[in-house]
Amino acid sequence: MSFEHVLVVGAGQMGGGIAQVLAASGRQVSLHDAAPGAVDRGLAVMAKSLERLAAKGAEVDPAEVLGRVSPVDGIVPADLMIEAVVEDQAVKEAIFREADAVLPAEAILASNTSSIPIASLAAATSRPDKVIGMHFFNPVPVMALVEVVSTKETSPETRGAVVELAQELGKTPAEANDFPGFVSNRILLPFINEAVWALHEGVAEPEAIDTIAKLGFNHPMGPLALADLIGLDTCVAILEVLRDGLGDERYEPCPLLREHVAAGRLGRKSGAGFYSYESP
Ligand code: NAD
Repeated sequence: MSFEHVLVVGAGQMGGGIAQVLAASGRQVSLHDAAPGAVDRGLAVMAKSLERLAAKGAEVDPAEVLGRVSPVDGIVPADLMIEAVVEDQAVKEAIFREADAVLPAEAILASNTSSIPIASLAAATSRPDKVIGMHFFNPVPVMALVEVVSTKETSPETRGAVVELAQELGKTPAEANDFPGFVSNRILLPFINEAVWALHEGVAEPEAIDTIAKLGFNHPMGPLALADLIGLDTCVAILEVLRDGLGDERYEPCPLLREHVAAGRLGRKSGAGFYSYESP
């Protein structure tokens, strides 16, 4: 088994899910988050998810899996880091700089970023050949895809090891080059933004917009419900990266998205977005 000990930085929706699948594969996981209580909340979400999987008949022992996840207070040495903090380039660069100083020279540094150039994170380190994007999808224990994003400097060994890890986690890797938003969010976010514009301009109510995508395009969920699942703050951040990185104003986030974020309506994780949720 490659990467016996993995450091996951960020214990939100994605970091928690990534820690869960790594621990379920038998690996030791150190989980760090800068916000007080975030790791505990992440562990509680993980416990619920594992109980659900066990109840559905999956071969998983929730206590054993949780036992492999250790909360840590900061960046610690490991064979691999997967960073899953807020979609903010400066915050991520600072983490990569610190990880470069703390993790052994042979360790790989991966980011779960949705859109931020991997090359900018690599430039914050002295090991650009070992920096890569490992982009999981939400919810991580359920979604089968990992978008593996290489820069011009990522070595074939790093890419091969991360592709193999994704397969060992039961996921299907798809490889992409380092462009803003890669493949997935370059396609998805303009679609979501257009749905928000349709709502903003009064074309239809949220339920109708989502029903049209579900029944008309055979999507499992509509774009507004999906935006709520991703997090509206993350949607705005990705659109800004697309706008600035591709130099095209058509990616400018719809004002309604910004309005929700400014009001703290971030989607499922805050209890409200385009829809209301009983518990975040
Ligand atoms: P989230 O808001 O649920 O969690 C982000 C976490 O990062 C928070 O717990 C926060 O406390 C923590 N954090 C912020 N600064 C930190 C720091 N300096 N050190 C340690 N922890 C810090 O967000 P999320 O949805 O989990 O997204 C995390 C990353 O994953 C983003 O880069 C996002 O673009 C990407 N992503 C998100 C999705 C999605 O559907 N939400 C899908 C794929 C990738």
